[in-house]
Amino acid sequence: MAIVIYPGTFDPITNGHSDIVQRAAAIFDHVIVAVAGSTAKHTVFSTDERVHLARQVFDDVAGVDVMRFDGLLVDFVRRQGAKLVLRGLRAVSDFEYEFQLANMNRHLAPDLDSIFLTPAEQYSYISSSLVREIAALGGDVTPFVHPRVLVALRERLHNQPRGAREK
Ligand code: ADP
Repeated sequence: MAIVIYPGTFDPITNGHSDIVQRAAAIFDHVIVAVAGSTAKHTVFSTDERVHLARQVFDDVAGVDVMRFDGLLVDFVRRQGAKLVLRGLRAVSDFEYEFQLANMNRHLAPDLDSIFLTPAEQYSYISSSLVREIAALGGDVTPFVHPRVLVALRERLHNQPRGAREK
């Protein structure tokens, strides 16, 4: 059985991520969306919330599971009995970081491989950070995220105490 692990912060999951997952689900038997618990990034949504949102998005997609992982990605990949890590490439600007990450993971676990998929063109300019920023400023992110994510963003960004939003 061909299993692929798609790791990320997913803060929050966007239609760009979903596009990659759907493409992968058409190629592999099992896609595990791996939501990073230990991340250096300050996230708007907690790990549990990021997992919950991703689960809602992939609820009806066969062969896709969402899991949280902590610690080294390569250890998680091995524990799942997988050999492949999937990442998305939007533009040349993604390449340098993804290349660095793939080589570091290869150094840590030479038996694993990284593979890359590109999203449909209309998703190539979407990022979680832009979505968060636009939503926080009151812009419409409806075309970029699942309706459940839209609700979560609205609740999070508009129900916060004033001080928290200004940080
Ligand atoms: P990370 O914090 O690990 O970079 P992200 O959640 O931002 O995690 O992204 C996970 C993966 O999905 C990365 O490989 C990223 O390049 C890719 N990705 C992010 N947004 C898109 C998009 N709109 N289309 C395709 N791939 C994307």
